Parts: sequence; C-alpha cells; structure tokens
Amino acid sequence: MHSLQKQRSLLFQYLRSSSNSNNIIHNSKMILSSSSSLLLASNFSSTAGKVIPCKAAVAWEAGKPLVIEDVEVAPPQAKEVRINIKYSSLCHTDLYFWESKSVPPIFPRILGHEASGVVESVGDGVSNLKPGDHVLPLFTGECGECPNCKCEDSNMCEVLRINPTREGMISDGKSRFSTIKDKEPISHFLGTSTFSQYTVVHSGSVVKINPTLPLDKACLLSCSISTGIGSILNVAKPKKGASIAIFGLGTVGLAAAEGAKIAGASRIIGIDKNPNKLEYARKFGLTDFVNPEEHERPVHEVLKEMTNGGVDRCIECTGNINALMSAMEALHDGWGVAVLVGVPSGDAVFKTNPFNFLNEKTITGTTFGNYKPKTGLPTLVDMFMNNKLELGKFITHRVPLSEINKAFDYMIKGQGLRTIIDMND
Ligand code: NAD
Ligand code: ZN
Ligand code: ZN
Repeated sequence: MHSLQKQRSLLFQYLRSSSNSNNIIHNSKMILSSSSSLLLASNFSSTAGKVIPCKAAVAWEAGKPLVIEDVEVAPPQAKEVRINIKYSSLCHTDLYFWESKSVPPIFPRILGHEASGVVESVGDGVSNLKPGDHVLPLFTGECGECPNCKCEDSNMCEVLRINPTREGMISDGKSRFSTIKDKEPISHFLGTSTFSQYTVVHSGSVVKINPTLPLDKACLLSCSISTGIGSILNVAKPKKGASIAIFGLGTVGLAAAEGAKIAGASRIIGIDKNPNKLEYARKFGLTDFVNPEEHERPVHEVLKEMTNGGVDRCIECTGNINALMSAMEALHDGWGVAVLVGVPSGDAVFKTNPFNFLNEKTITGTTFGNYKPKTGLPTLVDMFMNNKLELGKFITHRVPLSEINKAFDYMIKGQGLRTIIDMND
C-alpha cells in the first residue's frame, strides 16, 4: 500500500477503535507526528475553527510541581496562529517565573517559551504562515511597522516585545486556554505558553523554518542559543583575539561561548560556582574555568590578574546581580564592555563606582541577543542547517510531557544543560 494511504488507513482504524472522543484529536496528532506535512496539513483542516482538547502542564502555584491537565485551546483569532507544539525545553526564565520569588505571581499559568512545532491553523489576516508549516514560537515578536522594528539596531518591538505580565492575547486580552473540567481560564506566558500540546501565538511572534530541520534541536534556537550567540555577535561585538569572560555556564552562557569562538576570541574564561561545569567548559572548548567559590579573593581580581589588567568583554548569564557587579569590575578600562543577559531578581539593584564610567568601561544588556526574531533569526537557522552550529551538544536530558517536573529538578540541581520535553509522548 502507498505509504500515505497506509497512514490514512491506520488513522482511520485508530479513530474507529478509540473510545474517548475527547482524545481523538490529540491522539490522531500523535499518529501523524511522524507522517508527511501534506497529511498533517490536510488533517489539521478538520480541526480549524474548533476548540482542541489536549494535554498541558499547568503551573497552579509558585514553586509547586506542574500538573498535567486536560485543557481546551480556542481557535486563533485575527493575526493569530495555533501551533501543535512538538518539543519544548526548559529555560531558566521559565523557572524564574514559576518560582515568582520577586515578581508578581500569575497562576494558573501555562509556562514555556523555548519550543518548536507545526502550524495547525491560522486566523484572519495571516498570509505568511499556513497549516503544516514548521515553526518556532518566539517570546519577543516583530510587528515590522513600529519605530523599533524599523530601527536596524533594535529588537524591542513596541507591540510584541517580551511582556511577562501579559496574561492573555494582545487583540482582546483574553486567554485561549481553559480547563476542560471547570472551564477555568489559564494565563498565557510570554505570548508562547509552549508547555501545552497546542498553543495560540501572535503571528508576529512565529518564525517559519525549513521542514527538514530536526524540531527537537531547532527548538533551542527560539531562546537560549540565539540569546547567547547574539549577546556576543550583536551586542558585545569583540575584536578578533579578544578575551571574553562568561559568568554562568548554563545553555545561555555556553551559547555565548560558541559566539565567542565564532568571533575569534583568543581567551574564553568560564565562571561558574557549580564545579560540575568544569566538564562543560572543557567540552565546549573554553580556555579557562574559574569557580569563584574556590578563591579567597573576589573573582574580578582573579580575572584581572589572568588577563593582565582586565577582560575585554564580560557576559553575565547567571541572573545574579553580584555577578554583574563583578563583571563590571573585571573589565579592562578604556574599552571593556559588560553585557547583562541573565534575569536578576525583581528587586535587585546594580551598584558600581561611577569612576568605572570615567575610566571608559561600558555596561549594556540584551533580550534575545538583540536578534530581530523574524528578520534576524533566520541567519542562525541557516547556520544550523549548514552544520555550522551544533545544537545536539546542549541537550543532556529528554523527558515525556508527563515527566516535565524532572526538567525543573535537573535545572535546580544544576544537572546537565537543556532538557527536551517531548510534547507528544
Ligand atoms: P542555567 O540555570 O542553565 O545556568 C545558569 C548558570 O549560572 C548555572 O550553571 C549556575 O551554576 C550559574 N550561576 C548561578 N549563580 C552564579 C553565581 N553567582 N556565580 C557564578 N555562577 C552562577 O540558566 P540558563 O537557562 O542558561 O539562563 C541563564 C540566565 O539567562 C537566566 O537568568 C535566564 O533567565 C536568562 N535568560 C535571559 C535571556 C534574555 O533574553 N536576556 C534569554 C534566556 C535566558
Ligand atoms: Zn528563555
Ligand atoms: Zn514592532
């Protein structure tokens, strides 16, 4: 039998034998996840315009394990896209808002923003995306019209930029998620909410990728890898041969190290208080590793001595404000630049001696490595396609959606790098 016919027949048999009608749409997607885009697209047309029941990991309370719930996902409205999420991974920013230690708690909420999937349906006015397209949802968007989008140097779209307090969609402020049991609305997160098998995202925050790319790896491009690489190539812009110190060797920091290699850095110094990160420093080709807890002197003094007077560029990827202050101190005067990437506590205060500025040190920060998501990200996608960017080495764990809480445990314990969550498993 022709393979497409065979898949259709399997699907038909499955639908007939399924006793739970609520699961039909979801489970048929599971069969289809390994089939052609053509079949996906044709099958999706049967769900377009309808509410889709599926599974999602819901955060009900700060710091409490997520609960896998049966939820309903409403159809996309004008300028919106509904995506069948295939893979999500956990970024520290999800953990930060899940803990809600220093930011207003917003619960129940569906977290998740580093992900990949396939377009299921599109709302009115969406012309550049169609069912079956392989896509990355993005936590910061590009409307293409506002002054920031028109400015070459900014990715701070005035309409679709990152907004962690927004709970619903931009058009009507409403959530597209609700629990099946009580019809209780569930808040969106960063406009992406990818810890759900289906999600609704503004079309200006969705980037189409080549369907031949492996979605389990490509998902990393929607946050950590682009942020890290962009913090070097678009923001720090070191000269060839520069010394670069990276505070925090999680996935974002190690992606910054990849950027440093691309930029031709002569010295890449990793700083992490987790001694296990020495192994990753070696694996990712860093030239030095410093554990601040193994030194009696402040870490900036250690770095200054290592580099004969100061580091050319410092990239802060820990989220700890003290690390940012150390980064400023560790810079070489006259030209040193420090870049804040990590998300500090909501009540953190950055302090420095103003003479650091008179001594011509610069401090700046970045969201998403300053990449414009729609027009800038494709350069990194191309690098991945052309084997110039390896993503597999950032993946140390894989879990099914039902075990998503393990991803949180690994990150809290500092075990490994990224955990990929298989949303259809
Ligand atoms: P991660 O948890 O995987 O890695 C953080 C690393 O920092 C860990 O290895 C940890 O041991 C180390 N660390 C923590 N405190 C430290 C300290 N005081 N000194 C030295 N090392 C320390 O996190 P990640 O997913 O790689 O994210 C890193 C940071 O970047 C987070 O704050 C995250 O919220 C932020 N982030 C920002 C953006 C952005 O657009 N600006 C995007 C993604 C992530
Ligand atoms: Zn992130
Ligand atoms: Zn804009």
